Amino acid sequence: MIHITDKENCCGCSSCAQRCPKQCITMQCDSEGFLYPTVDTAQCIDCGLCEKVCPVITPSQPRDPQKVYASYNKDEETRLKSSSGGIFTLLAQQTIDKGGVVFGVRFDEHWMPIFDYTLTGDGIAAFRGSKYVQATVGNAYRQAEAFLKEGREVLFSGTPCQIAGLKHYLRKEYSNLLTVDIICHGVPSPRVWGMYVDELCAKESRRSKQKATIQSVSFRDKSRGWKSFHISIAFSTGHTYKRLFHRDYYMRTFVGDATLRPSCYDCKAKIGRSHSDITIADFWGIHVVDPSLDDDKGCGAIFINTPKGDSCYPYGQCINSEKSLHDVVSNNTSYHTSSQPHPKRERFFATLQQTNSVTRSVQKVLIPSLARRILARIKRHALSLIRKIRKSLN
Ligand SMILES: Cc1cc2nc3c(=O)[nH]c(=O)nc-3n(C[C@H](O)[C@H](O)[C@H](O)COP(=O)(O)OP(=O)(O)OC[C@H]3O[C@@H](n4cnc5c(N)ncnc54)[C@H](O)[C@@H]3O)c2cc1C
Ligand code: SF4
Ligand code: SF4
Ligand code: SF4
Repeated sequence: MIHITDKENCCGCSSCAQRCPKQCITMQCDSEGFLYPTVDTAQCIDCGLCEKVCPVITPSQPRDPQKVYASYNKDEETRLKSSSGGIFTLLAQQTIDKGGVVFGVRFDEHWMPIFDYTLTGDGIAAFRGSKYVQATVGNAYRQAEAFLKEGREVLFSGTPCQIAGLKHYLRKEYSNLLTVDIICHGVPSPRVWGMYVDELCAKESRRSKQKATIQSVSFRDKSRGWKSFHISIAFSTGHTYKRLFHRDYYMRTFVGDATLRPSCYDCKAKIGRSHSDITIADFWGIHVVDPSLDDDKGCGAIFINTPKGDSCYPYGQCINSEKSLHDVVSNNTSYHTSSQPHPKRERFFATLQQTNSVTRSVQKVLIPSLARRILARIKRHALSLIRKIRKSLN
């Protein structure tokens, strides 16, 4: 039976919990806010299925993409609403048009990301856009399996480990399944995001002197450009909080690797090991690789991994230019390399426990104090002076 001793060895896909024939595995939250399986040993019949369907215990082999494209959706409105090139929407719409089902990640009523499915074109909008928080898979694999068995076309999108989890859960190939993953930097803690949402609402309520609730969240607001994207949160008060991604405290914890799930620091699903049909990502560096494709509205990097991926790709509805794998990964190392934990990760979570505030924890732990910044600047100047003196003496 599943027994987690090292948290790096569980990506939280919940394949084990969904497959257990006795339904005796529950996903429980740890102090950092991540879900892990716990077995009710009194009910367990020791069948071993939970271990067989775990993508971390038995990771798949790495696989190179068959083709790589720089690509974006010809429909500019959709592209601007999407995180990168807006290719996900094209794939999803195509599935719906065939009478199929699309699985993706949307916000729930508390602005927490969860997996859900839609049977309609209108339902795709909720999945559009990256949510930089670990999403709860819930029963999504079981729901997808039921649709697959009915013979419905299913598009399932998620992080590489969530696609690997689905494939392990299903344990057989379905010709009516199309899997789409992303290049994945890692997923931050839902607990940290939930606390931050409460803090921003409280701050906005104080500012506006009325109870503020959130109306919409975009982690990738492109209104001031795709490359220098903003996080933007619209409140019921009419005010919109908007910050350049690295100026926002929550985004600092994400890009600084301070709050990622432990499994993201030793990811077992990278380098094509999810065995997805298509991988979608940002084509960072496209302004150097092929400036003609960079209008700062979003350019996707697309990996066609299987013949099925190739046959489903909506070539006619996007601008495409074939590139090499090197062109993409030289500016997107998350494809093959796991993030390194921030040196103060543990201190950050300990401070969060004490202060109960993301803002204060970031200020205390992740932002260097003024004194330390001044000292670092003095050190830099002193070193450069020493170098100049040495050079003039030689
Ligand atoms: C946590 C996370 C980390 C990422 N890291 C990188 C990276 O290092 N490099 C890179 O190039 N791209 C990364 N991406 C992918 C990138 O942000 C875009 O989502 C991707 O390029 C697709 O863009 P699009 O315009 O085609 O579609 P969009 O409309 O933006 O598509 C969104 C898709 O992402 C899915 N999704 C959204 N939030 C989540 C979530 N929390 N968990 C699982 N699936 C989700 C949706 O279901 C949908 O399938 C990351 C995305 C996420 C969610
Ligand atoms: S060994 Fe079988 S019954 Fe026990 S937890 Fe795993 S899947 Fe469930
Ligand atoms: S990685 Fe997935 S299947 Fe494996 S133990 Fe964790 S939740 Fe279960
Ligand atoms: S980095 Fe790896 S383990 Fe972490 S969410 Fe992404 S695919 Fe999963």
